[in-house]
Amino acid sequence: MSKTILITGAGSGFGALAARRLADAGHTVYAAMRNTTGRNAARVSDARAYAADHAVDLRTVELDVLSQESADAAVATVLAEAGRLDVIVHNAGHMVTGPTEAFTPEELAAVYDTNVLGTQRVNRAALPHLRAQEHGLVLWIGSTSTKGGTPPYLAPYFAAKSAMDALAVSYAAELARFNIETSIIVPGSFTTGTNHFVTGGHPAEQTVVPAYEARYAGLMDQVSERLAALAPADADVSQVAAAIVDVVDTPHGKRPFRVHIDPANDGSETVSAVADHIRAEFLTRIGLDDLLTPTAWPRTPRPTTHEQNRNPR
Ligand code: NDP
Repeated sequence: MSKTILITGAGSGFGALAARRLADAGHTVYAAMRNTTGRNAARVSDARAYAADHAVDLRTVELDVLSQESADAAVATVLAEAGRLDVIVHNAGHMVTGPTEAFTPEELAAVYDTNVLGTQRVNRAALPHLRAQEHGLVLWIGSTSTKGGTPPYLAPYFAAKSAMDALAVSYAAELARFNIETSIIVPGSFTTGTNHFVTGGHPAEQTVVPAYEARYAGLMDQVSERLAALAPADADVSQVAAAIVDVVDTPHGKRPFRVHIDPANDGSETVSAVADHIRAEFLTRIGLDDLLTPTAWPRTPRPTTHEQNRNPR
């Protein structure tokens, strides 16, 4: 069934590709971008041209995840135009590189603002609607860096993506009784095909950096080069877009909690399997296993494992 989907940060990279693939699959897709009349105006035109050329329902909407007003307005626009919203995709993100000590607390907070608080703004704009309709999907674009190999000089970004992942995991349980499903797409490092590495920021101050440069000369370039070298030749960002389409098109209640697309295999999938198993086991131990799957309310009463253990037959 065709769904109405809002994707943040959909002017480039995974977001732009996923928006097109989802529209190709027959969905109404809002590719959300900031600065739609300024810096990103050409991306808006590209999306419009794609929609016209391929006869698909790909639209754009202004959404700067740094602003609650902007998130509220974007969701209101989608609801006014399409009359519904079924899926939100938290894709907007920003990376910074450099020695961790060189970042001011404010610079760290800015990375957190985009990658973590941005999702909270969009959730606070969209979830009241999804809760009211008692149906929906929240799809998070996470990162293998939260649980896999973590090269140095990427700490503010890794810390933010880890925080985002933790939010996603807790939200999953809290939304289940509203019949809202959660999936986390976990891409590994894709050094080409998106603007992620190209637009990465750096610490502004230049007193700490030289001290690190003296000991770790050229480390940032080495990390980028070695990450790129790890990726197999057939690593293609369209794999991430395809995974997003697969998850959206999987029947409600049957979607995977996490999907890894990690051509370089940095180990995240192995660690996530343990973490997600412990999550399920722990919720079961405390009698909250119904929170592992979205269910319509009122849910059909059935004894939880906790209740079964307390009243063994
Ligand atoms: P891109 O840089 O191509 O895409 C990121 C998008 O986020 C850009 O279009 C950017 O828009 C947008 N964005 C940034 N800040 C804001 C904001 N305040 N409001 C709205 N949009 C904003 O990189 P990717 O496609 O690679 O990244 C997409 C997601 O994938 C990110 O969450 C990233 O963390 C994640 N990811 C990427 C990996 C990779 O190796 N490429 C690996 C793992 C995860 P603008 O151009 O206007 O700044």
